[in-house]
Amino acid sequence: MGHSDKAADGLAGKDDTRDGDLQSFWMPFSPNKEFKREPRLFARGQGMFLYTPQGRELIDASAGLFCVAAGHCRPEIADAVHRQLQTLDFAPTFLRAHPGAFELAREVATFTPAGLDRIFFVNSGSESIDTAMKMALLYHRIRGQGHRQLFVARERAYHGVNLGGTALGGMVNNKRWFGPGLAGVHHLRHTALSQNKFVVGQPAEGAELADDLERLCALHGGENFAAVFVEPVAGSFGCLPPPRGYLERLRATCDRHGILLVFDEVITGWGRLGEAFGAQALGVTPDLLTMAKALTNGAQPMGAVAARREIHDAIIAAGPEKGIEFFHGYTYSGHPAACAAGLAMMEIFRRERLIERARELSPFFAQAMHSLRDLPAVADIRSIGMLAAIELAAGASPGVRGHEAQKRLFDTGLQLKSTGDSLIIAPPLIAEKAHIERIAQHLREVIATI
Ligand code: PLP
Repeated sequence: MGHSDKAADGLAGKDDTRDGDLQSFWMPFSPNKEFKREPRLFARGQGMFLYTPQGRELIDASAGLFCVAAGHCRPEIADAVHRQLQTLDFAPTFLRAHPGAFELAREVATFTPAGLDRIFFVNSGSESIDTAMKMALLYHRIRGQGHRQLFVARERAYHGVNLGGTALGGMVNNKRWFGPGLAGVHHLRHTALSQNKFVVGQPAEGAELADDLERLCALHGGENFAAVFVEPVAGSFGCLPPPRGYLERLRATCDRHGILLVFDEVITGWGRLGEAFGAQALGVTPDLLTMAKALTNGAQPMGAVAARREIHDAIIAAGPEKGIEFFHGYTYSGHPAACAAGLAMMEIFRRERLIERARELSPFFAQAMHSLRDLPAVADIRSIGMLAAIELAAGASPGVRGHEAQKRLFDTGLQLKSTGDSLIIAPPLIAEKAHIERIAQHLREVIATI
């Protein structure tokens, strides 16, 4: 394990920003005051590793923010983006297009669940959520069901930060400041049951929690709901796999009431659960599926919505012959550089069998993560595929221990994402067993000091 060199990292932060003034960059989702007192920066990445400006190596245990499935700084992706930017740097995809967008959509559709083969490009996970909400609303409206204006989501969910996603979200700190004015979303209870601690994969208890949807339909009228949004496995909250049978029940209730089922696969997509998408890994097919992150290995901002063909076809057929069918899109939807990165990534997925690799490595990963169960500070460990969360027993107040732990881990050579008191482990899918062992050993040494 490397040693802390906070002072040096701090100084390098100053050197790197020329005059040492870190104030201009208003950082997202960060304690700005704390960071600017004790900055922690990365200057370089390679494969499984990130490096501080002084060259101190950190193993990347969360694949960036769940993006870097193929490891950092893949030359194939960098070269493809470079070539693209020298050939066609930008082309509008409103009324015009470029070949890369069609090519990438075709490629993505070979990975998505059967039937979900119409691909709408956006630039982030958050945009994919708001796009899917609009698709659901429009689909119902053109079929004479414009009264379907309500949505259902779940407690402890994260669906990004745009206003639609904020309304759907189920974490209080994402909602308390901006959520109250956003109406029209009802929440299912979360599935973190106390009897399901230290479970590998899907827990046995809790499928009946899906019946909350039936209760909401009974209360508000099922015919008023447009769509149910769930992460197949809640990711950002700290890896909550669905109880066995839970997603199947949601699917059945949606079908009974004509409600669309949307899977937010921004984290669970692209191999994280050992299949291309969580839908395939968990055996339930949604109507719309959102993705981002590993679609381009995080090298270019890009997200997408995969729509069931009938939904796409209905919307296109309902539009005027020469008019726009879906009044929605972003200047950078299907940006040429993002498409080039995505196409290079698809090639890596196939050539390096990253998804199969993730499936093969998952049991070893689960064993390594659950081996930390004996540590006194550990309150729970949950895992599925190549995603795990180690929940620390809360300290003085919720989140304090998790926050301290992620800083201590950084200072000693391991980078990960934490939420509250959960440390979230989701290594790049190129990880070798030795990397997993190193991550587990490092976690053990640091958690033991907490
Ligand atoms: N949905 C889920 C499940 C996510 O985990 C995230 C981000 O972590 C998002 C949506 C938002 O994605 P972005 O940060 O790219 O907007």
